Amino acid sequence: RADAALQQAKLSGRSRTFVDVHSGAQSREMVDALPAGEFLVVYQPIVDLASGVVVGAEALVRWTHPERGTIPPIEFIPLAEESGFILDLGRWVLRAACEEAATWDWAENPRISVNVSGRQLHDLEFVPDVRRILADTGLPPRRLVLEVTESMLEADAPVALAALEALRADGVRIAVDDFGTGYSSLSRLDRLPVDILKIDRAFVNALRPDTAVAPVITAIVALAQALGMSTVAEGIEEPYQAAALIAHGCSAGQGWLYGRPGPAAELARLAEAPPPPPLAACPALAEPA
Ligand code: C2E
Ligand code: MG
Ligand code: MG
Ligand code: MG
Repeated sequence: RADAALQQAKLSGRSRTFVDVHSGAQSREMVDALPAGEFLVVYQPIVDLASGVVVGAEALVRWTHPERGTIPPIEFIPLAEESGFILDLGRWVLRAACEEAATWDWAENPRISVNVSGRQLHDLEFVPDVRRILADTGLPPRRLVLEVTESMLEADAPVALAALEALRADGVRIAVDDFGTGYSSLSRLDRLPVDILKIDRAFVNALRPDTAVAPVITAIVALAQALGMSTVAEGIEEPYQAAALIAHGCSAGQGWLYGRPGPAAELARLAEAPPPPPLAACPALAEPA
């Protein structure tokens, strides 16, 4: 996994990465970074696409390294998963995010989405941890969304599925992150404890201003609707992408068009600002697919 992260970091153009520099001591350094207060949770708004109203946010972890500055999660999450430190880090992120979200008053029931790694889901303490954090912070379970990936929902993962089922029975929502990039078995999807499909950024990225056709997005939205799930599109950068997603029936989304991941104060500012002009002004909307 560390190799994969390194590979990916190299592909993205950074020659010397955190992984390169710290192939030996990285785990220890990461463990020390938690009590040292070097981890930080940032929040990216999730909006109702039709109105532009902020309905929630995704919590994303950052490591502010004293020498190297901000280290993105792609460079340390795989290492944290490998060493098991993700259990501590993930619990810390969840608590920080729930504590923060419990104070939000800029929407009716703003939701907080938190990424969960496979290692956490397989930990028998996960369900009691989540319940304790919700109780301690006073965040109603209905306002929490846990984001998992397709691979965590496989048939050979009964512990993970049982954990999700238990939390879902409490009212916690479950989202499948990066949907469409893994190998979900469609025959099982209707029996899985899932409420939301997050349409991977790759499909949003593939939208073009000059075409109204997006077969994969059409299919994911139809699938979600047939199964009583909702959709959230990731990585919306351009107005024409938002317009096309609305035309395809996708209800919510996130991306740089609406706001980058940032401090909670920035999220509140975005949420309290009047929504942007309606996308109906966008030509692509006038001619839906
Ligand atoms: P993800 O959960 O799919 O998060 C979405 C990623 O897309 C974030 O990257 C976000 O900053 C980025 N993004 C959002 N909007 C746009 C856009 O319009 N354009 C582009 N190009 N990118 C956009 P980030 O923050 O670097 O996180 C990367 C991944 O690291 C996350 O992907 C998630 O899998 C993982 N991650 C982040 N925080 C946590 C965490 O607390 N726990 C765990 N287990 N994983 C985390
Ligand atoms: Mg996510
Ligand atoms: Mg995602
Ligand atoms: Mg993604």
